[in-house]
Amino acid sequence: MTVSADLALVERQLVGGWLRCPQGGCGGVLRGHGHARERVVETGLAGRGQAQARFAPRRVRCDACGRTQVLLPGGFFSRRADGGVVIGRAVEMKADGDGHRKIAVMLGRPASTVRGWLRSAAGAGVDVLRAVAAEIAPDPAAVHPKPAGVPLADLVAALSALAAAVGARWRQKPPAWYSVGAAACRCRLLQVSWWARDAQHELALMPAWLAQAGSAAGP
Ligand SMILES: [Zn+2]
Repeated sequence: MTVSADLALVERQLVGGWLRCPQGGCGGVLRGHGHARERVVETGLAGRGQAQARFAPRRVRCDACGRTQVLLPGGFFSRRADGGVVIGRAVEMKADGDGHRKIAVMLGRPASTVRGWLRSAAGAGVDVLRAVAAEIAPDPAAVHPKPAGVPLADLVAALSALAAAVGARWRQKPPAWYSVGAAACRCRLLQVSWWARDAQHELALMPAWLAQAGSAAGP
């Protein structure tokens, strides 16, 4: 599950009991439960080894059902060695008409890896994302981008609309579209199996932004 990239904010959210269990129907409060092992995520746009993010994600435990979760900072996807900035760039290039081999060369990644990202992104539930954007936008009419007819262009448009809605609703600079995608789908934007499940409509989970909204209103 994705939370804010601001780790101090996440700790305040945990102490304040603002993060809720993502299991459907649970509603328990997530409490700090140590850290997962350190991971290294590649963030360089011209090849691996160029730039890396290194962090030990916070582990949390639900005080009601007892399930544990790992919190990933915004912009990172579950089970991916490359960061959202890289995968997001690949998706944008594909939406612009580039093939996976060209994208792989540009980003310095294996072609099979890039093809895997693109296939997974193509399975994302764009309609669900549009519905979430319309729900949180102050002006729902403003978040209905025209379908581009190209699957990944539609995904980028839907998530950009969602990012704009988050920015407008909570009066902040809109987050990157891939960060919003990671948060809205609990980091599983790129996992097709997640979209196939019945639980997909429970994705309106953006703890960091919701908590900020809560604190602005006085929790
Ligand atoms: Zn729970």
